[in-house]
Amino acid sequence: MERGEFLKWLREIEAKWQSRWREQHVFEADAEPGKPKFYITVPYPYTNAPLHIGHGRTYTIGDIIARYKRLKGFNVLFPMAFHITGTPIIAISERIARGDEKEIERYKSYIAVYVKDPDKINEYIEKFKNPLELATFFAERVHMDFDALGYSIDWRRKFHTGEPIYNAFVTWQYLKLREKGLIKRGDHIVTYCLLHRQPEGEDDIQDADTNPVEILEFTAIKFKLLDESDAYLVAATLRPETLFGATNVWVKPDAEYVVVEWRGEKLVVSRKAYIKLQHQHPEDDIRVVKEIRGRELIGKYVLSPLGRKLVVLPADFVDPDNATGIVYSEPSDAPYDYVALMEIKRNPEKLREYGLDPEIVKDIEPIKIIEVPGIDDHHAKVIVEQMGITSQLDPRLVEATKIVYKEQYYKGRMIVDDPEFKGLSVSEAKEKIREKLFRENMAFTFYELNRKAFCRAGGEIIVAKIKGQWFIDYSTPWWKEKTREYVEKKLVMIPEKYKNEMLATIDWLEMRPCARRRGLGTKLPFDPEWVIESLSDSTIYMAFYTIVHIIRNTGIKPEQLKPEVFDYVFLGIGDPGEISKATGIPVEVLEKMRREFTYWYPVDQRHTGIAHISNHLTFYVFHHIALFPPEHWPRMITLNELVIREGAKMSKSKGNVILLREIAEKYSADLFRLYAAGAANLETVLDWREKDVVTALDSLRRFVSLAKRSVDTKCTEYGKNRFIDKWFYSRFNKLLVEASNALEKMEVRDYVQKIFYQVLSMIDHYRDRASDDEAVCMVKTILDKWIRALNPVIPHVTEEIGEWLGYEKPVSISEWPAPDYGAINEEVEVLEDMIEDLIDDLKNVLNVVKPVKGRITLIVASPWKREVIRMVEEGVDQREIIKVIRDKYGLKGREKEIINVIQRYRREPNKNILLTNAENEYRILVEARDYIGKKIGLEVDIYWEEEARSKGIPRADKAYPLKPGFYIE
Ligand SMILES: [Zn+2]
Repeated sequence: MERGEFLKWLREIEAKWQSRWREQHVFEADAEPGKPKFYITVPYPYTNAPLHIGHGRTYTIGDIIARYKRLKGFNVLFPMAFHITGTPIIAISERIARGDEKEIERYKSYIAVYVKDPDKINEYIEKFKNPLELATFFAERVHMDFDALGYSIDWRRKFHTGEPIYNAFVTWQYLKLREKGLIKRGDHIVTYCLLHRQPEGEDDIQDADTNPVEILEFTAIKFKLLDESDAYLVAATLRPETLFGATNVWVKPDAEYVVVEWRGEKLVVSRKAYIKLQHQHPEDDIRVVKEIRGRELIGKYVLSPLGRKLVVLPADFVDPDNATGIVYSEPSDAPYDYVALMEIKRNPEKLREYGLDPEIVKDIEPIKIIEVPGIDDHHAKVIVEQMGITSQLDPRLVEATKIVYKEQYYKGRMIVDDPEFKGLSVSEAKEKIREKLFRENMAFTFYELNRKAFCRAGGEIIVAKIKGQWFIDYSTPWWKEKTREYVEKKLVMIPEKYKNEMLATIDWLEMRPCARRRGLGTKLPFDPEWVIESLSDSTIYMAFYTIVHIIRNTGIKPEQLKPEVFDYVFLGIGDPGEISKATGIPVEVLEKMRREFTYWYPVDQRHTGIAHISNHLTFYVFHHIALFPPEHWPRMITLNELVIREGAKMSKSKGNVILLREIAEKYSADLFRLYAAGAANLETVLDWREKDVVTALDSLRRFVSLAKRSVDTKCTEYGKNRFIDKWFYSRFNKLLVEASNALEKMEVRDYVQKIFYQVLSMIDHYRDRASDDEAVCMVKTILDKWIRALNPVIPHVTEEIGEWLGYEKPVSISEWPAPDYGAINEEVEVLEDMIEDLIDDLKNVLNVVKPVKGRITLIVASPWKREVIRMVEEGVDQREIIKVIRDKYGLKGREKEIINVIQRYRREPNKNILLTNAENEYRILVEARDYIGKKIGLEVDIYWEEEARSKGIPRADKAYPLKPGFYIE
């Protein structure tokens, strides 16, 4: 079959086996006491759009493991559900309902992935004004996509997080958390989206997983304007101790500032800062009384809280979007200030633009207030000059600032006159001046982010205070300690290097908002104005999978799912008889749910992408530890890297995203699985390259045609017990063992490479050494084992071949093939490698030397040479070796040859030699004589070394074990 035809065939058999698995309920798993279980989960997808191959990689790896464990004899549960919690889906529905053209077009294109009829597409758009319709549309499509990729999911357990039965479960979870004192309420400083007017965490913020967003505490200091305005300029700093060295104030001339009235005072800040102030003090009324430009402030004088009179000057580096948009200058220790001051001193004429006398800057000089051992001059000056920075817009100033601050923080001492501060370390002075300024009402805290940040929908993120926010207190000491200890000592993480990231997350996690004012999901049971947000309602749902199908099948109503039901099912608390009376759920149903839960729990493996470590996965472990006994805590977490395409990140804007639907329609499930699993191990980014996908397709095609021929062949004689036949079985069984070992270690790439690609090249080699017909015949003898070992990665193709072989039940529920350890033969493998090495060596020589007669003589080393090597390995003394060998083999006069062998082995030790014997080396060469001859294009003669010597063939004594001598006339 040519490629197109083959792909079509693949898609046909894929559809066939998918429906067969479904009809036969092959992947539906129930508790079977006494049978070992394996419970694997991959996080449920968020269903607001079609999924792409980046998701596909993660789910495929999860499925490969599920299938492998099933073949290994485990009762495997691999469930799936859909996540619709939170505001994104509502926000999309609202935009569609508002008639937002861009959003409508976007969603038309998403629907068109699945629906071709334009009228139908418009109908769906109309329906999407209801967020639940949108969520369930994509949930159903993702379900189809997962089926089309052949995932072995038990779909009886699917649900979505907006369903009342799930809400009942999450209600129980939050009542429990509150009972344990882990839910708090209070004013809370959060990252907040100005567009969506709600707190948005790292999950909502662009790139927050790779470039973390942190909240910084600035000290906003009031400088009294010395004019009739009665207002203060508010300059914000992270280093209030430098106030002692303030020389002037900087503003940005063309930025917008406002005078606001707040708590009976007039303050000047940037317009942006005003918006932030409002959000950080929602209880206060802050009003704008006047709007001004930065240039209007230039030349005015202010009084610092320490009583120094300072002038306001222009500076380009000042960012009105950062903190208050006004800073004071401390050129001795702040590189930005130093460079800005030097620039203005170099070019004082510029000040005339603002109606200022250039003389004004002549007397401004840095004031040294911090002493650092080894730095005599002003610290900022030293660093700036070292780095060669001359412009205040030089980006390296960020680095310069960090260097100065780090050194001063650890080694700096205050050298100011004020006795209260003199001699203090920088860190002490910082705290002390802050307290003093706050006490005197000359400063307040201003929160700002460490970088500019936007939510995924483009909304600007600021820091805000939420009144009466509900949150989960991850800083609760017993909880944090238990979680940390468990992750450090017990939890298995693969690749292990990611464990540190989880430990770091556990360390820094504190209060985390767990509910919002709006969104889909579960209402907070003790305050129904709030809805539990998406990262907080998806921490223990793996427990819900174990019973959800029973709830559905027995027709239990959501209102019957009272907390005591879950107390009993998950914790074994309470009496089923009484619970039954109180809820109307039959006792045997309660007991069945309890049995299912205790059978399946804990989760043996949770597999997902690395982006989830610092949020979802950490919460997953935390919540299990809070709510369940230790025997039900998660056992293992495994993670894979991202998928990129042709070297570039996939993104909607680049238009290079491949959707899962395209895999099902344009490629094939097994091709995708083979490629996605075989091209990269977990810790490696998978680069989807079309060229390599075609190569994988060709290999798959070769595999199928080989299988077909070997099923059809009438041959009965399987090999002839030659070396090459033994080699074939040895190699196959060894690869089978290695493939299994690789999967146990989650090395999916190595598994695919060994059991698919390396077995294929093994067959190629065999064909080369024997014949095509013999190769087909040999494949027949391993095909059954081979397809079972390949079933986890290419389930559809292997089912089809299984059917050709007469399988009555699906291969997917057969058994992992037992390797034939007895067939593994190291000697045969070493000898076969010798043949290949020999051919390479001969080809190299023949590039230089052209034979006269078209013949070559190969010479096999005498058996005594192996014996010499064995004695060297055993540590026998050289003189002793010479004596023993000489006497045993009658080599008197040839002692030099014995010494040569000893020396050569010491120079290039190779223990493989001792796995082989001379007789077999001779026999395999004889067996491969024609093959070698064909490869090098010469007739081959083979002699024993002693034979060659007696015939007078030159260089016969050069023969060495596994390195036959050769002579070309
Ligand atoms: Zn937002």
